[in-house]
Amino acid sequence: IGFVIERVSAILLVVAPTTMAISIPLIGLWTTSTAAKGGLLVRQNLDAATKLEVMALGKTGVLTTGKLRLEVITLSQSSSVASADELLALAAAAESKAQHSIASAIGEAARLKNLALSQALNFESISGVGVTALVDGRRVAVGGPAMLTGLNTQVSFDDVVRAADANQKGFTVIYVVVDQVLCGEIQLADQIRDGAADAVRVLAARGIDVCLVTGDATGVAEFVAKQVGIETIFAEVHPDRKLGIVKQLQVDGKCVGFVGDSIDDASALAQSDVGIAFGAGGDVAIESAGLVLINADPLAIPRALLLAKRSLSKRRQNLAWTIGFSSIGLVLAAGALSPIGFELSPVVSAVLVSLSTVIVAANGQLLRR
Ligand code: ADP
Ligand code: MG
Repeated sequence: IGFVIERVSAILLVVAPTTMAISIPLIGLWTTSTAAKGGLLVRQNLDAATKLEVMALGKTGVLTTGKLRLEVITLSQSSSVASADELLALAAAAESKAQHSIASAIGEAARLKNLALSQALNFESISGVGVTALVDGRRVAVGGPAMLTGLNTQVSFDDVVRAADANQKGFTVIYVVVDQVLCGEIQLADQIRDGAADAVRVLAARGIDVCLVTGDATGVAEFVAKQVGIETIFAEVHPDRKLGIVKQLQVDGKCVGFVGDSIDDASALAQSDVGIAFGAGGDVAIESAGLVLINADPLAIPRALLLAKRSLSKRRQNLAWTIGFSSIGLVLAAGALSPIGFELSPVVSAVLVSLSTVIVAANGQLLRR
């Protein structure tokens, strides 16, 4: 009876579930806290991020700062407004109720010039297209190329060339249409974020296909893509089609990540295997993303993926250790080596299991470095 009690105690102690119980959740805890310290909120299981094959990055606000600045205003030949200032005032009035960074940029430009803005009535905003409103009895439409197509507006050769030139220099061109007539364009400049090119390089080096997705004109997309080293571009993409692009890539069997910064990106973020809401300060749809990067730092994207990878490998290591330790411990505690005079005493079992717990915890701690 004494022998049996001793063996059973040794067995129970050596396979005590403490190590097993803490080895996995501990990593989860440290992953989340390490992530949080780096400005990353983890809302989903990070494991999909270790299998990522395609990473789609938004342009405005992700690769660029999204803080647009007025570059130049040009009046069209057919313009019914007298001056660039009048055009800006009309556009700013129409945009006054809009949320987009383009709207803020136009509003800010009008404020800097101390322009008086009229009231905008019947305001309507179409995401990825532009806005329309009634300003001083005139129907003012402000938007990108998709808006021109939608309104079926006549565009002169000069306008086309000028817009293409501006796009090639990386400027976003916003058209102002007053009572169905194209009156002029507002060119807005954005700035590539520090670290954007490095982030793309790191992602590519890890074998991930990086692509750029934007609602802006192809010319601007190409300019930005070239600056940051991206080859695959989806430009002039309506917000609804961002979702379609993610779905299509998934149908092709890819594990797809999507990084977006605005509410328009919500459905694509939710559909993707790893949705990353970028820069939580904006209007980004946090609920739809599995990961939230608080700081708008492009390098935090590959960092998040690396953390996911390390978290998974730490869990595997701990699991392997725990199973290995328990199995060997169990065999020894059961008295497998009794014939040659070696028996694991319950005291040694208890010490060993504590040691094992410390090893598992210490290994997990390495994640925090
Ligand atoms: P991105 O994918 O770069 O974030 P969006 O989908 O937000 O771009 O917008 C795509 C395009 O739609 C813009 O480049 C612009 O031409 C037009 N647009 C969207 N909102 C507005 C707005 N409030 N005023 C003018 N144009 C707009
Ligand atoms: Mg956007």
